[in-house]
Amino acid sequence: MRWTIRLLSVVLFFLFIGLLCYIIGDIDDLRPPPELQNFYDTGIDAELTRAQREFNASLEVIRMDKARQQEIKTNRSEAMGVARDTWAQAQRVHQFELTAGRQPSTELREELAQAHEGYTAAQATFEEANTELADLGAQEYAIKQELATLENRIRPQRVEAYDLYEEATKDHNHTLATYKLSFIIPVSLLAAWALAKRRESIYRPILKALLLASFFWVVVVMHEHFEFKYFKYIALTAAVLIVLAFLVRLLQSSARPRPDLLLKQRRESYHRNTCPECAYSYPDDHGDAFTCPACGTGLFANCNACGNSRHNLLPFCIHCGSEEAASAVSA
Ligand SMILES: [Zn+2]
Ligand SMILES: [Zn+2]
Repeated sequence: MRWTIRLLSVVLFFLFIGLLCYIIGDIDDLRPPPELQNFYDTGIDAELTRAQREFNASLEVIRMDKARQQEIKTNRSEAMGVARDTWAQAQRVHQFELTAGRQPSTELREELAQAHEGYTAAQATFEEANTELADLGAQEYAIKQELATLENRIRPQRVEAYDLYEEATKDHNHTLATYKLSFIIPVSLLAAWALAKRRESIYRPILKALLLASFFWVVVVMHEHFEFKYFKYIALTAAVLIVLAFLVRLLQSSARPRPDLLLKQRRESYHRNTCPECAYSYPDDHGDAFTCPACGTGLFANCNACGNSRHNLLPFCIHCGSEEAASAVSA
C-alpha cells in the first residue's frame, strides 16, 4: 500500500511536469519573438538598401553578359583559327604553283585573296568581342567599387540594428520569463504553503508531487531565460534558503518536540516499561503511584477522577478515560 502510494506519487510528479510543460509552452506563444529582418528594414536607410539592390541586379546582368561574351569570344577565336588555316592552305597551294614555275590560275589567286579577307574579317570580329569583354569587365569593376562604398555606409547601420535586435530579444526573453515565473512561482509557493499548513493531510503526497514539479520548472525557466551569471546567484540563493529552512525546522523540532511525536515517544516507552525521559527500565509490579528512581519523573499517579493508577505522562486515564491536563503532553 505504502509503495503503491509512492509509485503513484512519482507518476503524478511526472504528470505535473508534463502539464506545466504545456502551460509554459503556451506562454511562449503569447508573444512573437523579435525578427532580425524588421530591425534591418527600419534601422538601415531604405535609399541605401534600394541602391544596393539595384547595383546587385545590374552586377548580375553584367555577369551574365560577360559569360555570353566569353562564349562568343571563344567561338570567334575558333573561327579565326579555321580562317587562318584556310588562308595558310591557299598560300601553300599558291607557293607550290610559283615554285613549279607556273603562274597561279585566276581561280587560285581569287581563292587566296578570299581566304585572306576571311581571316582579316574573323580577326576583326574577334577583336570586337575582346573589346566588348574588356568593357564589361570595367563596368563590373566600377559597380563593385560602388557596392563597396555603399557597404561602408550600410555596415554601421546594420551593426546598430543588430544591437537593437539583440536587446529586443533579451527584453523579450525577460518578459516571457517574468510571465512564466509569475505563474509557476505562485503554484510552487501555494503547494509549499499547503504542505506546511496541513501536516496531517492525507493529500500530502499530491502536494509534494506538485511542489517538486513546479519547483523543477522554476529552476528550468530561470536557467533558460537568465544569463548564467545571474542564474548562478539565483540558484545558489535558492539552495541556501532551502537548506536554511530545513535546518531551522530541524533546530525547532529538536528544541521543542512536536506534541504528536512526544506522545508517540512516551506511549512507546510506557509500552516497553521504560522511563520516557531517561530510558530507565522499571519492573512490571510498580505501585499505583510510581516515580522514576533514576530521574525523578512521575510516571504513574492516582487518577483524580477514579482513583486508579494512570499513566502520568499520557493525557487520558486508562481506567475511566478522563482527560487530565497532564503535566503530560504540553510539557
Ligand atoms: Zn526516568
Ligand atoms: Zn481514571
